[in-house]
Amino acid sequence: MEGIERRVTLVCLFCNSPLQGPEDAEYASGDVIECNECGESNDYDSVVEVAKEKGVEEVSEEIQRQLKKELGNLFKTN
Ligand SMILES: [Zn+2]
Repeated sequence: MEGIERRVTLVCLFCNSPLQGPEDAEYASGDVIECNECGESNDYDSVVEVAKEKGVEEVSEEIQRQLKKELGNLFKTN
C-alpha cells in the first residue's frame, strides 16, 4: 500500500486537539498523556486505538477512491 500510508495523529479524547509531547517523547502502553489544551489526562492505549481506527478509515476511503477511478476508466464508453 505504498503512497497511501500516512502518519497517524494522536488527538485528545476530551477536546480533540492534537496531542503534542516533547519532540523526543516516546510513549508506551500504560502511559498517560496530558493534553496541552484542556489539561485532561489521556490514556495512551485509548488514544492510539482511536488514532488507529481513524487511520484505517482514511486509508480505506483512499483505496475506494482509487478503485472507483480505475473502475471508471475501465468501463468508460467512447
Ligand atoms: Zn484536550
